[in-house]
Amino acid sequence: MPVPSFQITCTARDVIARDVYEIRFGKPENFTFKEGQFVLFDVPLVDNPADIQTRALSIASTQGEEELLFGLKLKPGGRVSRWVAETLKIGMTVRIQGPFGVFVLDPASERERVFVATSAGVAPFRAHIKAALERGDQRKMDLIYGVRSEEDLFWHRELEELSKAYPNFFLHLALTIPSPTWKGHVGRVQTLVPLVIPDFSQKEVYVCGNPDMTTEVKKLCLEQWRVEKKYLHVEGYI
Ligand SMILES: Cc1cc2nc3c(=O)[nH]c(=O)nc-3n(C[C@H](O)[C@H](O)[C@H](O)COP(=O)(O)OP(=O)(O)OC[C@H]3O[C@@H](n4cnc5c(N)ncnc54)[C@H](O)[C@@H]3O)c2cc1C
Repeated sequence: MPVPSFQITCTARDVIARDVYEIRFGKPENFTFKEGQFVLFDVPLVDNPADIQTRALSIASTQGEEELLFGLKLKPGGRVSRWVAETLKIGMTVRIQGPFGVFVLDPASERERVFVATSAGVAPFRAHIKAALERGDQRKMDLIYGVRSEEDLFWHRELEELSKAYPNFFLHLALTIPSPTWKGHVGRVQTLVPLVIPDFSQKEVYVCGNPDMTTEVKKLCLEQWRVEKKYLHVEGYI
């Protein structure tokens, strides 16, 4: 079966943290997806627009939101990074394919959820957490979200608001190189997770971000934190 493709039009493109763009697109009426899935964008090379390749971006919006929301962490010289920073403008139409992926919440599971993200890896979790809370899911959910310093944080204010509004959602920030005024955790997510979750026996764990982090956290989950493989879900941003 051919992969569905859609033309979507950019409605917003903003720098929201150091080297991070938030981009928004109108959602086509016949486009359906599940929170946690991603799409492939057709991305032309800035210096040769006829040369097109696809790049994956996780959908950060919920099914209920009107627009498709994405967060992109720039990679120096990278194709999609240069395209978003130098070419993409509000009003431009782009082809996407999808949705793809199985990084969705297990509807059959009643376990509490632990989400571990670094940087843009928070994108699918924004969608998961917002959707779960809005549909009245009462189980405990912890998000451990790591970046380098305060300037690298994004969507944390909205997540903080959710944690205030819903007593079952907890946000834990981890900064590796914070400013002197930072009062939260200092260190990588790998060091914060076991402090927040001393016992994984009732947990379902979701990990998303750069592959170095996801590989290490996966190993820790399986070898030290006693997470059973069937309760561990990993999306590496290769
Ligand atoms: C399922 C999935 C979902 C994803 N979701 C997201 C998401 O929501 N947000 C997000 O930010 N990322 C996401 N990613 C990662 C994203 O798809 C890209 O891989 C990433 O943004 C890098 O793409 P790029 O085109 O900018 O770099 P590429 O062109 O693919 O380059 C890869 C690397 O090579 C380096 N490089 C390339 N060209 C040059 C050059 N000329 N000079 C020097 N260095 C160079 C770049 O710095 C980069 O590190 C996801 C990946 C997957 C697999």
